[in-house]
Amino acid sequence: MDTSTLARVTVTNPINLKELYSFEEPTTAELDQVFARARAMEPLLRKMSVKERVGHMNNVRQYIIDNREWILDRIIEETGKSRMDALTAEVFEVTDVFDYFEKVTEKLLKDKSVYTPLPLLGKKSKIYWEPLGTVLIIAPWNFPFYQGIVPAMLAFLAGNPVLFKPSEVTPMKGVMEKVLEGAGFPKDAIQVVYGAKNTGAQLIERRPAKIHFTGSVNTGKKIMALAAQQLIPVDLELGGKDPSLVFEDVDLERTVNGIMWGAFTNAGQSCTSIERLYIHESIYQPLLDMLVEKTKKLTVSHAGRDYKSPADVDMGTVTAEFQIRIIEDHIKDAVERGGKVLCGGSRQPGTHHFPPTIVADVDHSFKIASVETFGPVIAVMKFKTEEEAIRLANDSPYGLSASVWSKDLKRAERVAREIITGNVSINSHMLTEGNPALPFGGIKDSGFGRYKGEAGIYTFCNSKSVLIDVQGKKIEPHWYPFTPEKYALLTDLMVALFSKSKNWVKFAVSGLKIDNIGTKQKL
Ligand code: NAD
Repeated sequence: MDTSTLARVTVTNPINLKELYSFEEPTTAELDQVFARARAMEPLLRKMSVKERVGHMNNVRQYIIDNREWILDRIIEETGKSRMDALTAEVFEVTDVFDYFEKVTEKLLKDKSVYTPLPLLGKKSKIYWEPLGTVLIIAPWNFPFYQGIVPAMLAFLAGNPVLFKPSEVTPMKGVMEKVLEGAGFPKDAIQVVYGAKNTGAQLIERRPAKIHFTGSVNTGKKIMALAAQQLIPVDLELGGKDPSLVFEDVDLERTVNGIMWGAFTNAGQSCTSIERLYIHESIYQPLLDMLVEKTKKLTVSHAGRDYKSPADVDMGTVTAEFQIRIIEDHIKDAVERGGKVLCGGSRQPGTHHFPPTIVADVDHSFKIASVETFGPVIAVMKFKTEEEAIRLANDSPYGLSASVWSKDLKRAERVAREIITGNVSINSHMLTEGNPALPFGGIKDSGFGRYKGEAGIYTFCNSKSVLIDVQGKKIEPHWYPFTPEKYALLTDLMVALFSKSKNWVKFAVSGLKIDNIGTKQKL
């Protein structure tokens, strides 16, 4: 790795564009030390009981609840999000996820006895859920608290030391350390490594046991290529272009409210925000009119306000300048191709304040309807039939999440089954993410692997299969010496037991004979 590219990272408050702080990326020697400390923790965490690990998580949860206000301040000043968004999608969500894992982790990590087939009669089969070793979490900038602490804690619950590399855009320097220390969390069980992509790549070079990556599709491909060189397993939580399908029987007002939130929460900087809205042609105009009218009433950005005050705005700022450029490019492309901007459309000059934007008269040849925009922008289209709605939803390289809106729940579930995606909310949006018992993740270009739900613990485990036999004198029928008699008996047993219609008598007779040979035979 070329260390000459190590950079100085500068962190800016997107609300007032003032520099907050800056820092140097770690040196090679410092990264070696971080890894050495993590490796030293591996045997200690392996031995720590699951109950004790859960206890540490609970202490962190309580610390977060007791210290929520300054944590929210830090989230807001680095991301520019509204306080309500910071509360619900970051702090509330973290405590909710931890609460679920308090309830289920001990049960999930208990040795699991599984089925042992008849030919292995007398033996026992189990799965031990063991730690993998040092886990690397690489996170994006849009949910800097949640995207770091949740996977880090799940990896810890499974008994792994964690290295967490936050985004260089919103590193929230010192926050995770303060939270962990304040909660009396074991030192070095979760370490934070601040830096940009070079730091991430250098961490991968040191061969963590697993990488859990959340970020863009392009970076995901690079991470996978780096990981492939050392066969490091990866979870890739990547981008999306969520479709929302609205059928003709909906309650207009409720649906419009839900869509507005689904599209504009976190200023649209959520991998699962609504970016493509498909409306049934019979309600297209009234729904769109209401959506535009209500969207215009949203209070936007913290401009000129005390952003630390709970007196809130509905939608915060766009976090990064490079993201605004992408949003502007998609809107420009849409306008050039004949798309109609019905509200919003451009930022307040010289700021990151970008109003919620609705663009109609577009199709899938437009960037705005096909490439992830990751901003407060909805591309609106119409459909005639259920089949067309499904086809349009699936006409995308992404498959992260979707929503279906209809009073007819049978139809909504039928449509949900047909959408090629990782998550579907019916008559709401993104609500699958509100239930920590549901696994979260995507397919197609949105990545693979799941976290949260039972999969959220198991993804950080080595599932070790164990088969237990007694220490007697008997030898197994498939061991040496091979004889024509054993061959015939094993064939009989297979035919008797595994054919469509079982022959229990034949199975018992051949089984007893094999058993008898096993007791007497010697090589
Ligand atoms: P990004 O891919 O630019 O960066 C993500 C992280 O990867 C950062 O920490 C960055 O420093 C690191 N990184 C970049 N290049 C690297 C390299 N070569 N080696 C190692 N590390 C490297 O993503 P972003 O712009 O921070 O986040 C926005 C993206 O994340 C969007 O596409 C969004 O959809 C996606 N996202 C997905 C989910 C999900 O759960 N599926 C959740 C949130 C965000």
